[in-house]
Amino acid sequence: MCGIFGIIGKDCEAGKLAYFGLYALQHRGQESAGIAVIDEQGALRYHKGMGLVPQVFTENIIQGLPGNQAIGHVRYSTTGASQIQNAQPILVPLPDHSAAVLAHNGNLINTAELRTELEADGVVLQTTSDTEIIGCLLARHYAGDPVAALAAIAPKLKGAFSLVLMCRDKLIGMRDPYGIRPLCFGQLVNGGYVLASESCALDITGAALVREVQKGEIVALTVEGASSLVYDKTRPAALCIFEYIYFARPDSYIQGRNVYKAREKFGELLFQEHPVEADAVIPVPDSGITAAVGFAKASGIPYEAGLIKNRYVGRTFINPSQIMREIGVRLKLNPLPEVLQGRRVVLLDDSIVRGTTSAKLVKLLRDSGAREVHFRVSAPPSVSPCYYGIDTPLKSELIAANYSVPEICRKLGADTLGYLSLKTLRTAVGQEDCGFCQGCFDGLYPAGVPQGDELGLVYKA
Ligand code: AMP
Repeated sequence: MCGIFGIIGKDCEAGKLAYFGLYALQHRGQESAGIAVIDEQGALRYHKGMGLVPQVFTENIIQGLPGNQAIGHVRYSTTGASQIQNAQPILVPLPDHSAAVLAHNGNLINTAELRTELEADGVVLQTTSDTEIIGCLLARHYAGDPVAALAAIAPKLKGAFSLVLMCRDKLIGMRDPYGIRPLCFGQLVNGGYVLASESCALDITGAALVREVQKGEIVALTVEGASSLVYDKTRPAALCIFEYIYFARPDSYIQGRNVYKAREKFGELLFQEHPVEADAVIPVPDSGITAAVGFAKASGIPYEAGLIKNRYVGRTFINPSQIMREIGVRLKLNPLPEVLQGRRVVLLDDSIVRGTTSAKLVKLLRDSGAREVHFRVSAPPSVSPCYYGIDTPLKSELIAANYSVPEICRKLGADTLGYLSLKTLRTAVGQEDCGFCQGCFDGLYPAGVPQGDELGLVYKA
């Protein structure tokens, strides 16, 4: 769960555009943010800190980041603790004394093995992040050409990785052989390119989307043009399906498909699979909004905002501890009795993870007068953890891994409960040439799992 961004242009104030790009990717990570720039003389500067993009960067700090090329990162920790040492981008000292900086979205599953291997070779690692390991391997295989070095280390990297790497006069984007985490690039009007986790971050820079970096591909971008190296064609495509469900911003395009439209479709299909008679469709804001629009359209039941979200309570405060999660729901969402009183409502969200929020929401609606609460989820049951960079809990904490749908319905206190089936979800986003990683829904992991966690019981990303 991270956002990555890179830009190379002519007279383009790259640091400032990276700031806006990261702002557009803020939903992908709220723990830390960082930007590195290289100026015309080849000097590298960077700044990173804990917190949201506007908390980390002031105008003065951005002014102190001059140059026509930049990369940036917003982080939500999966591997490695939430601390400044693990913030990105990271500096990669190369043997020829040139500077490179690296930012990574995804999660390697063989971090422990690679760490042991590097340490046995005398390398002293400074952080607990898997990105530093990638940087170390890169430096050791570098012989003047960063693309060749990345291709050389690729077979060692198991799991999910979308990378942006910046060297002088060059910006490089790379996706793992399965294309698990997204990465796309666009072209700037005045020459040059932008790389970003999602197309919504291109929009803000005025860059026109060229295409996605393909699975197993390295794209090298300069102000003059783009070149591509496909380093591995042997693996099936396995884009994370959860990007469509929850993670990506609705205004982004993935595989040429608008995320808003995909989620709206999930809502329509959800009604077809689990129809219900009710007076109002109420989304859990913001995650359930788009699917609720589709559910309301398909069912003819009016869409209404029965839960009001306080937009200024960030996820940052709510995530780390269970206690904060408990308080968090009320802090964040307040029910509207005027909309709920005496009514049969469909409560719609994109996923149920632990079930904590969902149970509280059902109770909030009932306490505010709802006569019936029919819970609908625009995704299949989340039954298995993610090893590839989405922050999901252990199997023991996933409600759907431990209880049947009728049991979950009882636990939530809902009148009825319906999930979108995996088959229908796949049909909705299916394309002949594109496969998905849907490990969180079926427990199958295309790029493998960390050694020793074949049952999904131990490992916490
Ligand atoms: P829970 O109480 O654990 O069932 O939380 C369900 C809520 O968490 C839903 O509103 C989801 O949109 C949201 N959600 C799903 N996946 C994630 C995630 N990886 N990080 C944060 N929130 C999530």
